Amino acid sequence: MAGDVLEMQDFLMNTVVEQKICSTNVAPAAIYSASLSKLRMLEDMMSFYSESSEVSLINHNAGSAATRISAEMMLVLEQAQEYAHVSQSAFNILLAPLVQTWRKAGAENKMPTREGIMEVLALCKIENLILDKNENTAYLSKKGSMIDLGGIGKGFAADACCEIYDEMGASSAFVNLGGNVKAIGNRPDGNPWSVGLQHPDRIRGNCYGVIMCSDLSVVTSGAYERYQEIEGAKYHHIIDGKTGYPSESDLKSVSVISKSSIQADALSTAAFVLGLEIGMDLIYNSECIGAVFFTQANEVYLTKGIKQNVRLLERMPCYEA
Ligand code: AMP
Ligand code: MG
Repeated sequence: MAGDVLEMQDFLMNTVVEQKICSTNVAPAAIYSASLSKLRMLEDMMSFYSESSEVSLINHNAGSAATRISAEMMLVLEQAQEYAHVSQSAFNILLAPLVQTWRKAGAENKMPTREGIMEVLALCKIENLILDKNENTAYLSKKGSMIDLGGIGKGFAADACCEIYDEMGASSAFVNLGGNVKAIGNRPDGNPWSVGLQHPDRIRGNCYGVIMCSDLSVVTSGAYERYQEIEGAKYHHIIDGKTGYPSESDLKSVSVISKSSIQADALSTAAFVLGLEIGMDLIYNSECIGAVFFTQANEVYLTKGIKQNVRLLERMPCYEA
């Protein structure tokens, strides 16, 4: 018997956050209250739009001054640099000026010019972010450079929630930040938690498969998640830093399985940009458990060794590679 179970939903970090907490010794409500405070704190720290967030302070000081940051922010930024390094900058938090260029293009329904994109690209090199661990500062060396933690923040937050669940003695728990999932232990009925794999071409909640997981995170990046129309064509929200345009890989989505949610979050974004072949190499060269790739040709590719965790809900071409 796993004890009391609490299920809660909140809107945080621009997404629906669902928590399920099972606990015998400590009231689940007390654990939920602690994780909710943590999520609010992380939202205040990482928000791109709140003027008082650490992200906004760093962005505001670009090209002029280093910004003193919290130890936790330093941790996120160091890891973001590391994931940029291992992915040849396919994952790059400095793509923010381009993300904004494309958002504006969507709002105005006007394609950005190629020259405009190239100009903005110069601001987006990950090397423009300089961290000083002794001084606890972050500095963007070019005016106009900006960071955006949209591709990594939810993973960091999911890890932080699970740390709280563990520390406070939850017997099992599950957190889902808009598709960024992490679970500890098993479900109250003793079975592993299952995470649905959203079908990229169908309405939300329509899954092509499920992943069984205990003490694991599953994070999906996909073109279908968020897109906008500009001059009659669809453009999604994940940018290829090599071209400055929304990535045009051979994938519709990638789901990454890892013990670390920040890793699954960063590497799912990176693998989506890199495409099936290089994305697969990226996962094999990491400490991730594995990944599920859904291609433009509607085929599914699994990394080796995760077949037992994945169940497809319909007949479709599926390969182990
Ligand atoms: P995700 O949903 O985790 O794949 O992250 C996508 C979000 O991260 C976008 O909405 C942008 O805010 C930001 N982003 C877009 N392209 C990239 C990229 N190549 N690397 C890192 N972050 C990105
Ligand atoms: Mg991500």
